[in-house]
Amino acid sequence: MYWLMALFFAAAALLALMVIRALSGPKAPPAGSLDKELLKPFAGAEDKLAALLRIPTVSSFDPAEEDEAVFTRFKAELKTQYPVVHERLLLCEPSDRSLLFEWPGRRRELPPVVLCAHYDVVPAGDIELWEHSPFSGAVIDGFVHGRGAQDIKIMLAAAMSAAEILLSRGFVPERSIYFAFGGDEEVGGLRGAACIAEELKQRGVRASFLLDEGGFVADGLLSFADRPLALIGISEKGYMDVALEAQGTGGHASMPPRHTASGVVAKAVTATEARRFRAKITYTMAGLLKALSRYSPFAYRFLFRNLFLTAPLVKAAFSMTPTTNALLRTTSAATMLSGSQKENVLPQSARAVLNVRLLPGSTVAGVLSELDAIASRAGARAVLAHQGHANDPLPESSVEHEGYKAIVAALAYAFPEAGAVPFMFTAGTDTKHYTQLSQGIYRLAPIFQKNEDITRVHAANERISVDNVRRAVLFYVRLMEGL
Ligand SMILES: [Zn+2]
Repeated sequence: MYWLMALFFAAAALLALMVIRALSGPKAPPAGSLDKELLKPFAGAEDKLAALLRIPTVSSFDPAEEDEAVFTRFKAELKTQYPVVHERLLLCEPSDRSLLFEWPGRRRELPPVVLCAHYDVVPAGDIELWEHSPFSGAVIDGFVHGRGAQDIKIMLAAAMSAAEILLSRGFVPERSIYFAFGGDEEVGGLRGAACIAEELKQRGVRASFLLDEGGFVADGLLSFADRPLALIGISEKGYMDVALEAQGTGGHASMPPRHTASGVVAKAVTATEARRFRAKITYTMAGLLKALSRYSPFAYRFLFRNLFLTAPLVKAAFSMTPTTNALLRTTSAATMLSGSQKENVLPQSARAVLNVRLLPGSTVAGVLSELDAIASRAGARAVLAHQGHANDPLPESSVEHEGYKAIVAALAYAFPEAGAVPFMFTAGTDTKHYTQLSQGIYRLAPIFQKNEDITRVHAANERISVDNVRRAVLFYVRLMEGL
């Protein structure tokens, strides 16, 4: 009887402790609002962005599909739009697809900061679907329309506008600022960011922190949060394409073996789908939950602040939707399948491709061997689909770093309505080329994005609101002033 009472009291004490942890942790002050007067000095920044959107800098894996002339024209247009920057900063072109501006700071002993963006865009796709022509740069009804408006000429244009304004006010930054713009991010960044990284390495530059695209200020993405949330990417998943392959005998399909090569590959695909990779609460995820708890109602705070007991529950809940599931584990998606070329001919070989995104903590080699073990049991094998196009997950940058704090401070000023949380970017950016340059690598476009906006990225009718453009300029001004 006594032991039952002891157990009861222990459970009650534990529950009380968890409730106290949920209640006592920091809670964010009420969200602020922006004084729109602050945006007034940046009127006109949208027209500069529009001018950049009119140049169709479409990159492609196939050089025959690229028009080199437009990339040259883009650089000329940049000079027209931002004359003071071109006159006063030191410009170097490490390659034909990159631009590197250096703005020397007052205190050269401080490590510099690198602000990145890319000026290539993905193709417009079906032009019929666009309300305004994709390269019109139309500024209508409070929006700037065109391919690249959100991804990611906005960052380039806003950073340039901010520098232009600060320069004309006679401002000199405390530490040096580099602006690093690549012209082939959408196809890997080897001609752009990789060359900039090499140039900075040659100069012996070690940066304090680097800011590139990735997250954004998400408006309405997490229904339970009490305000929009700036998702600051502190890590990035790794990438690889894995081929599952099997060999067959070929021949006529009227007298088939028990299993054909196509059947074996199909079995291997099914086996990889049946087995999920292990869910893990990474440093990034733990940071996200901790920060998120400040903006969440009690039930969520209870969950997020007591991970020692609630981790399995959190993992189960996050596993339920593809977006949140991708934050917890390595994912593998079967995307391509091929076998025989003809209905009645047995395949001599068959192949499926898995697109794999690796969670920080895992490696290309490790995940490949796990997949190979699964494929082998089905009679197939797993190999890298293209060598040299695979990369390990990027290191997780600290939320205690001065760079993270500087970004949060600039966000608090330009987006007072929003909170800030660290998060993991599940796609790829140019930052993979910069890992040697700095320990503080952060990914965020300083713009509000609703779900409806996100669906326009890499799709038809990409656009950005004029208000968003000016906010982005305000963010950069504040960031540069605060360095
Ligand atoms: Zn991009």
